[in-house]
Amino acid sequence: MLDINKVRADFPILSRTVNGKPLVYFDNGATSQKPQIVMDAITKYYQEINANIHRGVHTLSQLATDAYEISRGKIQNHINAKFAHEVIFTSGTTHGINAVANGFASILKPGDEVLVSALEHHSNIVPWQMLCEKTGAVLKVIPMNENGELIMAEYDKLLSDKTKIVTVNHISNALGTVNPVKYMIDKAHEFGAAVLIDGAQAVPHLKPDVQALDCDFYVFSGHKICGPTGVGILYGKEAWLNKLPPYQGGGEMIKEVSFEKTTYADLPHKFEAGTPDIAGGIVLGTAVDYMNSVGFDNIQQQELELLEYATTRLLEIEGLKIYGTAKEKTSVVSFNIGEIHPYDIGTIVDKLGIAVRTGHHCAQPIMDFFKIPGTIRASFAFYNTKEEIDVMIDALKRAQMMLS
Ligand SMILES: *Cc1c(COP(=O)(O)O)cnc(C)c1O
Repeated sequence: MLDINKVRADFPILSRTVNGKPLVYFDNGATSQKPQIVMDAITKYYQEINANIHRGVHTLSQLATDAYEISRGKIQNHINAKFAHEVIFTSGTTHGINAVANGFASILKPGDEVLVSALEHHSNIVPWQMLCEKTGAVLKVIPMNENGELIMAEYDKLLSDKTKIVTVNHISNALGTVNPVKYMIDKAHEFGAAVLIDGAQAVPHLKPDVQALDCDFYVFSGHKICGPTGVGILYGKEAWLNKLPPYQGGGEMIKEVSFEKTTYADLPHKFEAGTPDIAGGIVLGTAVDYMNSVGFDNIQQQELELLEYATTRLLEIEGLKIYGTAKEKTSVVSFNIGEIHPYDIGTIVDKLGIAVRTGHHCAQPIMDFFKIPGTIRASFAFYNTKEEIDVMIDALKRAQMMLS
């Protein structure tokens, strides 16, 4: 069982006030808060072992390199990758997707097809559009239904020998839908297509097993799992990472350089040009350790309770409509109240110390589907409580009264 008071004490920011009220942080879908242990690890790195990695024989450089590689191993274990060199440090999900999309420019021919889903974050749409423009490949969209679930019968019909890559999020950031990624991966493989899973919104809630999923690529950001901003992970199967050209050229990613020809370094360094966010990479391991010490069973149980409680209480509010009612969903509730603009509600509840996201959540096509400008999104983490949900419900009722 999760000791909620103990967990909350790990996050200093949760005890601050905002606009004179205790902070209620329900914007975890945008970024998570950080436990003290992660902040301490950043300081400790700079105080004790700061040096550049993978160069220099001096002691600090060795210590920093070891810590960085130990962290890579922790991520490897966490996602159950077969090899540590399949785990590439990136600056985040966006970077990971762009690296893969860029690599596919050397593979796609005019008329080839790229499948994205109707539920994607802009960062899993735009790089593929850019790729299609560059190569003459065609972007196809897997549609969704009114509940915010992808329609698998349509997906099956879209797949063909022309499909070269399918890219879909594990969990939708805007609606919380958990997508049937295992089914989608197996189906795509029947046609020889690669599959990239955008796990940015999944890793805060579950431990992905990339070998069991059999995905070709899995990407996520550190800052959504209690880690710092500026660091993320691109997992890729060894064969794919060997096949794709590097994304960026520079130091660290080469074997030999002359003006005639450069040979690239082996994995993972081929995809890690330049000096990375060393502290971030090391501390991502600390964050993953922290999440595991809380325990994903405990995390899921707490978040499911919050989701059910919030859904029931929100529906008490007259005229409130929830967007995203998939059977499989995580602790995200997107909603509007009558015709009131989400921004107006967001502004009023902020005055009451409550942080929710308002707008299109970097997923404009989803808003277009529902013919709305945006929603209010409350996204819960394991450190949130039912009492905080009560505070939000009261605030929403107050905002409704003031605005209608
Ligand atoms: C947050 C998010 C991204 C983008 O992550 P960055 O950290 O901004 O690169 C992509 N996809 C999904 C589903 C997200 O939730």
